[in-house]
Amino acid sequence: MIFARCCDFVIDLIFPIHCVSCRREGEWFCSGCATKVTLNQKQFCPVCWQPSSGGKTCETCRGISPLAGLRVAASYAENPTLAAAVKTLKYKFSQPLARNLAEILTRAITQKNYAEERIITAIPLHTKRLRYRGFNQAELLAREVASNLQLPYENLLIRSRNTLQQAKLSREKRLQNLRDAFSLASPISLQNKTVILVDDIASTATTLSEAAKVLRAAGAKEVWGLVIARG
Ligand SMILES: [Zn+2]
Ligand SMILES: [Zn+2]
Repeated sequence: MIFARCCDFVIDLIFPIHCVSCRREGEWFCSGCATKVTLNQKQFCPVCWQPSSGGKTCETCRGISPLAGLRVAASYAENPTLAAAVKTLKYKFSQPLARNLAEILTRAITQKNYAEERIITAIPLHTKRLRYRGFNQAELLAREVASNLQLPYENLLIRSRNTLQQAKLSREKRLQNLRDAFSLASPISLQNKTVILVDDIASTATTLSEAAKVLRAAGAKEVWGLVIARG
């Protein structure tokens, strides 16, 4: 990994970094372009995908999902260069890029007074993949969001099974693939706490749901998903 990162560094020296959106030199996705990303006006229930206020799991689905809701910050359709920026963060360890993308996530969170304590965490990578890639892009984002909101960040979960890539599987296979994929990183009580679970993207909410199940079992009052886009 260190070798790979050195190679990256050399390549970046030879071919300067350009913003994937405005081509300005110096950043993968500049803060100017990140500020211009339009946020989703409508949010949807993460189970039946019917419109719902703020992304709350709707009344009908509440009984079958451990997620209290899902906030999807923006859409690729409305922000054509956003997908490239999100993809870049998967492969390039870039703090400024994570910061600019996290800005979008932060804007998508309604700032209201919460009675209960909130903790931010991220969907973990399996240690094998983490070692290969060198960083977890969801954690980079989640840590930035936590610092923006002045909330604690904690690695609450571990990925106990190295799951296959979700995008390539059917819905049934996805569920099977993810069953018991997550466990608690340490025995902790989340009693009366609201957990905000960050990932870069969500295609369905299956991964977030499976992770939320573990957090709810540890006592979390509510678990909310937070992603940049559906992709
Ligand atoms: Zn730009
Ligand atoms: Zn629903």
